[in-house]
Amino acid sequence: MQTPKKQIIIFFTFLLIIQSSLLKALFDNLHKIEEYQKIETEYPSYVDQNHLGLCLKASIHLEKGTVVATANFEKTDKNYIADHPSEEYRYIALMNIDDNGNPICGKVRGKWAFCNHSCEPNCDITDKWEIVTNRKIDKDEELTTSYDALVYNYEWPAHWNFECKCLAEKCKKQINKYRLDIIYPIKKR
Ligand SMILES: [Zn+2]
Repeated sequence: MQTPKKQIIIFFTFLLIIQSSLLKALFDNLHKIEEYQKIETEYPSYVDQNHLGLCLKASIHLEKGTVVATANFEKTDKNYIADHPSEEYRYIALMNIDDNGNPICGKVRGKWAFCNHSCEPNCDITDKWEIVTNRKIDKDEELTTSYDALVYNYEWPAHWNFECKCLAEKCKKQINKYRLDIIYPIKKR
């Protein structure tokens, strides 16, 4: 049996390990944010952290119709998998549908990748692949789009499903199909 002194040492060592890994995660995130804030500074938006992780916020008060990011895609064979631990599967968007009805996906780069989903989004996506505000937005407010807006006539695959934690009053919690009240224009590329 361990003596109380040994138990105390183990307990504090355990605490130290937890604390240092938490600090490391915090430091890594801060470092990442600092790096991400250097990208695409021409748009009035910046990468920050919300209650869930990284997000995109308004850097000034924005009027309706302001472009806050544009897409910078690189074609990929990978398909989006919600909540996948690797960014390789999370920062992916459906770019188009080929003639056989198969999805054409793009790896999302730049600020676009940090614009989170909301069930009551304050931004829309245009046919020029811009993220544009759909109402007035306060400085430092998070910018969001709808990941389940109807874009293409394409069946929603099960691996796109995710549990939403967007804090919107009308949050649907389970995102598992296209919504029909938000339709983004078919994108041209
Ligand atoms: Zn939601």
